[in-house]
Amino acid sequence: MIPLKSENDLRALELSGAICGRVLKKLGEACRAGVKTAALDSLAQELIRKAGAIPAFKGYKGFPANVCISVNEEIVHGIPSERLLREGDIVGLDLGVNMDGFFTDAAITVAVGVISAEKAKLIQVAREALKAGIKEARPGNNLSDISHSIQSHVERNGFSVVRQFVGHGIGRALHEEPEIPNFGRAHQGPVLKSGMVLAIEPMVNAGTWESEILENGWTAVTRDRLPSAHFEHTVAVTEKGARILTGG
Ligand code: MG
Repeated sequence: MIPLKSENDLRALELSGAICGRVLKKLGEACRAGVKTAALDSLAQELIRKAGAIPAFKGYKGFPANVCISVNEEIVHGIPSERLLREGDIVGLDLGVNMDGFFTDAAITVAVGVISAEKAKLIQVAREALKAGIKEARPGNNLSDISHSIQSHVERNGFSVVRQFVGHGIGRALHEEPEIPNFGRAHQGPVLKSGMVLAIEPMVNAGTWESEILENGWTAVTRDRLPSAHFEHTVAVTEKGARILTGG
């Protein structure tokens, strides 16, 4: 069953999402050459705590940090470390917030200084793919209409979508039903209803869609080590269409 949220739940999720979006924006602005990714993790923790919320990723299934920081060929679940960001890197920042038991999740990919034309296009297409997916999150559509619109947009632009990781329902827990693949045929799966809350998160690779996990047991990288970009919003399905909760 896909849980439906009440208006009160949505108001609580909006508070949570506002923090998530705002902190993510600040983290994005802090991504400059010479910055240690561990410093971004500390900043995330400080900003979330100051807002009265709890970082949702820390300790989740044993994840050791407050924010996932995935650089260049890293797709998702990069672990902050002593690594210094360098000019030309692209940085995926994925953040989960728990405010009074209401969870939201969002991600952006940002450039460090001047990046290659290919990386810039990758970021743009991934951002557009999220927008295309969100547009389909409305009552009466099937879940896979989201998936299909994301895959179509990405492949039309010559890139690929990751298969190993998918979006998800969210709200009272970080991961709820349903799973939301970023690929598939249209008009399949559950019918979307007002009150569903979904974390839609295309992961877009410049080369192959295939991925593998590094020895740390967490970090997913592209098999061909070409770059990857990730965008995510938590959205509510409403009668008026999708409402983005993590706009910040
Ligand atoms: Mg997510």
